[in-house]
Amino acid sequence: MSRVIGIDLGTTNCCVAVVEDGRPVVIPNTGGYKTTPSMFAVGEDGKRLVGHLAKRQAVTNASGTVFASKRLIGRRYDSDEVRRAIELCPYEIVEGPNGDPRIRIADKTYTCPEIAGIILREMKRVAQEHLGEPVREAVITVPAHFNDAQRQSTKDAGKIAGLEVLRIINEPTAAALSYGLGRNADDEKVLVYDLGGGTFDVSILEMSDDVIEVLATAGNTFLGGEDFDRRIVNYLVEEFEATEGIDLRGDPMALQRLKDAAEKAKCDLSVSTTTEVNLPFIASDAAGPRHLSLEFKRDTLESLVGDIVEDTIKTVEFCLNDAGLSREQVNQVILVGGQTRTPLVQEAVSAYFGQRPHKGVNPDEVVAVGAAIQGEALVNDDQNMLLLDVTPLSLGIGTFGGHFAKLIERNTTLPVQRSHIFTTTRDDQTAVKIRVLQGESDAAEENDLLGEFILSGIREARKGEPEIEVSFNIDTNGIVSVSALDVATGREQSITVNATGTLSDAEIHRIIEDNDLYEIEFKE
Ligand code: AMP
Repeated sequence: MSRVIGIDLGTTNCCVAVVEDGRPVVIPNTGGYKTTPSMFAVGEDGKRLVGHLAKRQAVTNASGTVFASKRLIGRRYDSDEVRRAIELCPYEIVEGPNGDPRIRIADKTYTCPEIAGIILREMKRVAQEHLGEPVREAVITVPAHFNDAQRQSTKDAGKIAGLEVLRIINEPTAAALSYGLGRNADDEKVLVYDLGGGTFDVSILEMSDDVIEVLATAGNTFLGGEDFDRRIVNYLVEEFEATEGIDLRGDPMALQRLKDAAEKAKCDLSVSTTTEVNLPFIASDAAGPRHLSLEFKRDTLESLVGDIVEDTIKTVEFCLNDAGLSREQVNQVILVGGQTRTPLVQEAVSAYFGQRPHKGVNPDEVVAVGAAIQGEALVNDDQNMLLLDVTPLSLGIGTFGGHFAKLIERNTTLPVQRSHIFTTTRDDQTAVKIRVLQGESDAAEENDLLGEFILSGIREARKGEPEIEVSFNIDTNGIVSVSALDVATGREQSITVNATGTLSDAEIHRIIEDNDLYEIEFKE
């Protein structure tokens, strides 16, 4: 029987784990690292590179290196997030035929599930090499706030990687599982503070014997360790300008070197209180080459990023409010994400809650470990590990005047079924259009359209008389179906809205064939 792997498909890094002899093990990649950069590149010679190999050449091949594509997956090209990503990314993002963002490098256009699939395939390869046997099944994690399209696109990415995705689970849920929390206590409230490279997520879980329920989520998809790095780069640029009179801002090569040095210095300062930044030949002018060399202290780092850390605490407060809890009601706090290794972050969280957060499992591995535990429970049919998730966003339909009628509020526990009676707005109206929307705005057009259908054959009547029962149903896998019933005639129409991500089955098939051309696999 082949084993199930757990994969944390992160914005910045990925991590893969498996349960061996009853214990979760994080699998190191070929270079010996337990996390692999979520990066894909096409080199000048046309060679495809993934992970560390891609990261290493990013300096000299910025437009051919894709990073943080998780920000784009399952989103629409015209969404705010994609617009922001276009501003920030050195690689080209174009609109795909399905209105999805696609990435163009070296004359080829890639869909986002395809990029994620290439990265997942690398994680699968890492696992297979470690286990010495083929791997087919996986549990993959996503942020708790991911909507249906993002989850489905992640599943498609798994398919492209040649994996059967047994389940998509929420990252905070996985983190809690890795600590085995909730097994002995009833209604334990757990707050997961996840500060990664590019994103910040707060989730509040309620755990009892066998059930983990997400009570609320909050966060910022554009806040993370890279912001820390950017602040350090700015500081270094200013210091260099003050001492050498040279502005490095216009020199991409120097900036990339500064970025790498900034990240390294930041990581050093997690264990020591001072470090050195040395960048020889960072610039030159008529007087000859110039070197950047300075001492960088933890105090300086803390003054540079203090406001970012404070902002994350405000988000924690917002999330607590949403869950209707006070900070004193939180029983456990879990730190997730490499950036939580910075002492200032740990201190801020400890001070706010008046308790020390859990950090027994490495924060950058804790999610993959939980995913592996969940995978093992699924194949062993461990009924003790039932997971209850919630809808990340509200669901409803568009109504007359451009309003959004919510039928299911966000953070409602799954499975759920809700119905409401609607009616016509004109005399003798025989058809209604049901537009299924997801989001928080009262204005219909500001929310995401998941799908639409028409219910026709309604008996002619004066406006406001017909009774049209609209029902939403979301099952434990998060599959949403919506039906509309004309109570008088019994006529009914329905759709399942998240059966598709941004790719059709034919497209997924084509991508798999494309990517399989040069692949070699373990033989079963
Ligand atoms: P993740 O997305 O969880 O892999 O976290 C990646 C982020 O964690 C990056 O911004 C890293 O620079 C940061 N990080 C990794 N290790 C450390 C460390 N020892 N100290 C501070 N930040 C770190």
